Amino acid sequence: MSNVTVCARFRPLSSKEKRDHGENICIRSLDSETFVLKDEKEEEFTFSFDRVFYEGSEQADVYKFLAFPIVQDACNAINGTIITYGQTGAGKTYSMEGTSILDCHEQNKGLLPRVVDGLFHCLESADNTTKYTVNLSMVEIYMEKIRDLLDLSKDNLQIKEGKVKGIFLSGATEVSISDRTEALRHLSSGIANRAVGETQMNMASSRSHCAYIFTVQQEEKNERRVKMGKLILVDLAGSEKAERSGAEGRVLEEAKTINKSLSALGNVINALTNGSPGKTNHIPYRDSKLTRILQDALVSPH
Ligand code: ADP
Ligand code: MG
Repeated sequence: MSNVTVCARFRPLSSKEKRDHGENICIRSLDSETFVLKDEKEEEFTFSFDRVFYEGSEQADVYKFLAFPIVQDACNAINGTIITYGQTGAGKTYSMEGTSILDCHEQNKGLLPRVVDGLFHCLESADNTTKYTVNLSMVEIYMEKIRDLLDLSKDNLQIKEGKVKGIFLSGATEVSISDRTEALRHLSSGIANRAVGETQMNMASSRSHCAYIFTVQQEEKNERRVKMGKLILVDLAGSEKAERSGAEGRVLEEAKTINKSLSALGNVINALTNGSPGKTNHIPYRDSKLTRILQDALVSPH
């Protein structure tokens, strides 16, 4: 069985889209896993996913199907990753953060605040022989450079690998979070820092990847054993291609770097899903910073 679950989500048309192109939509739902797309020439194409979230889907549905099992895993020392992929404006950040990370209306809350709720829910219901610690790091990858969103002075973090820690970002700020409010406060300041950095660098957030890294450490009180589960959420850079003509200089360099790291991610996921059982095939994690950071959070023992 594959370790990778792939879902598609449709967002409602924006008022501008309705104004410019009318309200007709080119997809038709077949069932909860399959939709049909009709192109300009009326030709039909069928696409299947593990689950399709149609326009009316709720943030809670997405969390329940996609993130909840991975949050449970993280509390059981099993690593996991959740990635949003799509063009700028597709709804990646809406799915990840919600309308705003601090908006606590049930309907608007995205995956991040729900993951935080889920993590603390797990920990609160655990028996008291286990001591849990939850840490958070937040980084942004722009032009293959990793910036610490919890401390903007660290703008070139290096990826290291340790025997106990696995893959880690050397020197990255790790804040320990003890409750939901504290977690949301840190997430919110990281997100605000992202905007500050963008202004400094004159860069749009859609041109960088943002990774939210939670680690859940479990210490059995009676034994001297420490287990760790890592949960990474990634809001990817927009997957649109650079304009065929016109893009030059830095914009073109940005687009090339993004395309390179997104195709590296695609290659890693293909290698993970196409590998024959029992055989260890080569997984090209080292082809980009993004895939290297995700290296030990993409494989799970399921
Ligand atoms: P991206 O991060 O992929 O560039 P955003 O998440 O910023 O895209 O979404 C673009 C716009 O569409 C935002 O105004 C957002 O609030 C809105 N939007 C995205 N997904 C949905 C959804 N499922 N329901 C309602 N509005 C959405
Ligand atoms: Mg976005």
